[in-house]
Amino acid sequence: MTQITRSPDHRITRSRKDVLHYYRALLARWGPQNWWPAQSRFEVIVGAYLTQNTAWTNVEKAIAQLRREHVLSLKGIREIPLRKLQTLVRSSGYFRQKACNLKTFITFLDTKYGGSLDRMFAQPTEKLRAELLALKGVGPETADSILLYAGNHPVFVVDAYTRRILERHGLIGPKTKYEEIRLRIEQAISGAEARPFRILQAGTEPRHPVSRMSRGKRTERAQHYNEFHSLIVRVGNQYCRSKPKCEECPLQSFLPNPSA
Ligand code: SF4
Repeated sequence: MTQITRSPDHRITRSRKDVLHYYRALLARWGPQNWWPAQSRFEVIVGAYLTQNTAWTNVEKAIAQLRREHVLSLKGIREIPLRKLQTLVRSSGYFRQKACNLKTFITFLDTKYGGSLDRMFAQPTEKLRAELLALKGVGPETADSILLYAGNHPVFVVDAYTRRILERHGLIGPKTKYEEIRLRIEQAISGAEARPFRILQAGTEPRHPVSRMSRGKRTERAQHYNEFHSLIVRVGNQYCRSKPKCEECPLQSFLPNPSA
């Protein structure tokens, strides 16, 4: 990996412009990624819970089990006994907690919104975000995944890959808070500079097949957040691993010059 400098003085001023350039470069290289690969809003929610601390391939196995048992629905998760649910989501790890947390979500939805995702997602973003964050087992990444990918609310999802990439590029420090990163990226991607290129179709290497949820109607802003997050995940998966493969990575040209 190329050596990089970390200059706190330049981080904030650089980050907005750089993030926009990263987004453009990745879109031009790969194009839209068709994330999130799900057939319903509830499937996205289940996936957002199950993907905590595990690889997506393990989530896919658990989702497939739920589908096979015909319980991948609000009604299904509401009615299935907890023990049985734990067994079905076992492949995703921390399965006891995750099964309990899914049940807690259903209780929240039933109590607060009469079991209606439409009513829940009709709430203002910040209000709903605060309610989700108050639920057991829901941190910012899970809440924002649910808001963006299931509810089409315009919030950017900051995950471990986002942190790792921005930190390796000297745009954030190890202690930069989730909210700060989220707001910086949202400002960069929502800015006037972002509008003219809309969702570029130049790259044609989607990571996932088109799904009902990836094709869902959303605002341009939410679509930008969707695309950038999924592109970041791809960089993290393919290149920015514990041992980074900078020489092959589409973001290599953005690494800070060590002598700057
Ligand atoms: S692998 Fe890519 S994103 Fe990660 S540090 Fe290297 S160039 Fe940057």
